[in-house]
Parts: sequence; C-alpha cells; structure tokens
Amino acid sequence: MASVELLSASSARAAVPIREVLDRALAGDRLSEADAIALIESPDSSLADLLDCAAELRDRGKGREVTYSRKVFLPITNLCRDRCTYCTFRKDPGDPGAWTMMPSEIAAWSRRGRELGCKEALMCLGDKPEVAFKEYRATLATLGARSTIEYVGRACEIAIAEGLLPHTNAGLMTRDEMAMLRPLNASMGLMLESISSRLRMSGGAHQAAPDKDPALRMKMIDEAGELKIPFTSGILLGIGETVAERALSLVAIRDSHERHGHIQEVIIQNFRAKPEIAMADAPEPEAFEMARAIATARLVLGPAMNVQAPPNLSPGEIELFLRSGINDWGGISPLSKDYVNPEAPWPHLERLGERCAGAGFKLGERLAIYPEYIDDEWLDPAVATNVRAIWERTRRVSA
Ligand code: SF4
Repeated sequence: MASVELLSASSARAAVPIREVLDRALAGDRLSEADAIALIESPDSSLADLLDCAAELRDRGKGREVTYSRKVFLPITNLCRDRCTYCTFRKDPGDPGAWTMMPSEIAAWSRRGRELGCKEALMCLGDKPEVAFKEYRATLATLGARSTIEYVGRACEIAIAEGLLPHTNAGLMTRDEMAMLRPLNASMGLMLESISSRLRMSGGAHQAAPDKDPALRMKMIDEAGELKIPFTSGILLGIGETVAERALSLVAIRDSHERHGHIQEVIIQNFRAKPEIAMADAPEPEAFEMARAIATARLVLGPAMNVQAPPNLSPGEIELFLRSGINDWGGISPLSKDYVNPEAPWPHLERLGERCAGAGFKLGERLAIYPEYIDDEWLDPAVATNVRAIWERTRRVSA
C-alpha cells in the first residue's frame, strides 16, 4: 500500500505553487485546461494538498458513502474488429475462447445473477465484429439479427425479462443505434480512454483500432447527451498517453457534461500488463499516478460528479483511492469474472465494506443508473417502472 506522507517527505523536487488552483476549485470555479494540467503534474510535495482538496470536494457532494452496483457481466461477443495492443478480451473467429453468447446463455446468466442479488446486466462486447468477420455475420443471421447492436437489443430484452436493468457498453454506436437501445437500458457507456489522437498513429496502442478515434468517441458521448441517456465514460491510464493528456481527457468529458448534463460517472482505470498482450512489457501506472488522476478528476468535475476507480485492478489501494476523492467502485459481480481483466478477481463485498468502514466510509448499493438520474427526463418510459421498483427495493434493503 502506498503512503502519501512518505512520498511527500522523500520528494526532492521543488513544489509548484498549485494552492491557488486548489482554492479556486474549492470555491467552485470552473478549472481551465492549464489548471487541470497543473494539478495532475503537481509535484510530490503538493500531493497531500491535492488529495485533501479532492476529498473535501467529494465529502461536500457525496458525503461519506461510497457506492457500487451489483452486476452480472454478459460478454455478448468477444469478437472485435479492433486490435488495441493492451486487450486480452478480443478474439478472432476460430480462436480458442472465441464466443458469442446464445439467447439461452444470456437468460441463464441473467437468471443466476438475479438469484444472487444482481440488479445490473452489463452488456460488454467487442466493436463491430460483423464488419470484419463473415463467420460472425452468419452467426448473426442464424440469430435473426442484422447487426451486433440489434442482437444487443435482444440481449437487453432477455435480461429485462429476467428482472435486471441493462447497461450497454458496446463500443462506438451511431445515434440511431443508441436511440434504439434507450428504451431497453437504464444507462449506457463508452470509455473515452484518451483524447490523444497520437495513440492512433503508427506504433500507438490504437493504431489498429479505428473505433478508438477520440473525435468519433467524443461525438458519440455528445450524441448520448442529446438523446438524454445517462452515460458513463472515463479514461484509461498507461496506454501511451502523456500525463497532460490525461488531464485534457478529463476536461473533454467535463465539457460534454456541461453541454448536456448526462455524464453520470467518470471512471479512472489503470492499464494492467499481461503476458499475452503486445504491451506485456509496458509499465503499469503507479498508485500515485492513479491518485493524481482521481484527484484531478474530482477537482475538474466538481463535487456532484460520481468518480469511480475499479477496486479489482488496484486491490492494495482502496484507502488511497478513497483519500483521492472517489465515491464509487463501479460494478462488482458475485457471479461472473471481469472478462476484460480476467486475472483480477472482484473483491468480496464484505471485505470491501470492512476496508471502506476502516477508512471512514459506508459502502452502499446503487443501480446501473444513479439516483440523481431516476426521473422522467432521463428514463425512457419503457424502463422507468422497472428502474423505480428495483430502486425502491434496493433502498429498503439497505436502509
Ligand atoms: S479494447 Fe475493446 S475495442 Fe479494443 S480490441 Fe479490445 S474489445 Fe476491441
């Protein structure tokens, strides 16, 4: 576990004066790109101040409750036309482990998840496999779907019938595709990952991933706002971006939220190296890089935003991340593994609750849609009744 005090004490670097930026953030001022970069690049000697201010803003907006969503992870298909160099999830047709879930599997997993108390069905899948693979186009045809997104809609219907609330994270979608899925989802998501277009260039992590073009992703994030979809986004640290680009990515998400009010949570996720990926030897972000990014996110996005870090990717840093300003741990599954990071098991909820309590926080359950979005503006009438009924039940149980 990392210690802020030890790091600050051992730092030999001169402090950059960031106090004025922190004071403006605490006063509720809108931070500029330059402010955000100054925060995330602040020297070790200012780290404790940075985290304290972020934690203060979190406490003002969210109190001392940190939330999670009880979910079942449904990897609808792991076929993907993109080839991000850090990915172990994607497969080509015929690869060992290549898999498209059949409707009976989606129903059985959803039912089992419901029995285990899950409320969220996370639809997680590769991007546009039908564009790249004729075998998969044939699979879709036998399933009676003309596109992956149409099949995801069917998967959502199955999950709803089993009593769950879908959250779709299906990569880049068109406006029409999102509009089609809105009545079948409590919320949707797309990680921005990084605003850096350099990552699409030769040798970059997204060179062979056309759907990771940041301009296209920002367009979809904005369109989700125009469609009044409660939306999850976030950044991925350690894939070749600079520290300043992390700050600029957070500002881009903040700006979209200012335009539409739809960003319900922002995830700060760390790259994890694995032997089988092209980036096997790339360094993983250190705990304090994560802490700086989390704190910068809180200070840029303000007290009302839900800021999340996945606990299974940094199991030793629960207390540090709480100190840095998060108020959410994301989806935690009692049934299915994290298919994107299969080597990183979900924490047991009891143990996570104890660690939160030890740091002065209460662990509370939320749904795939945050309470502040459970209203007629953000919920499609087709899912509103289900969402409200499940939220009432969840609140009664945790009261
Ligand atoms: S990270 Fe997503 S888009 Fe990239 S290769 Fe993996 S599944 Fe495809």
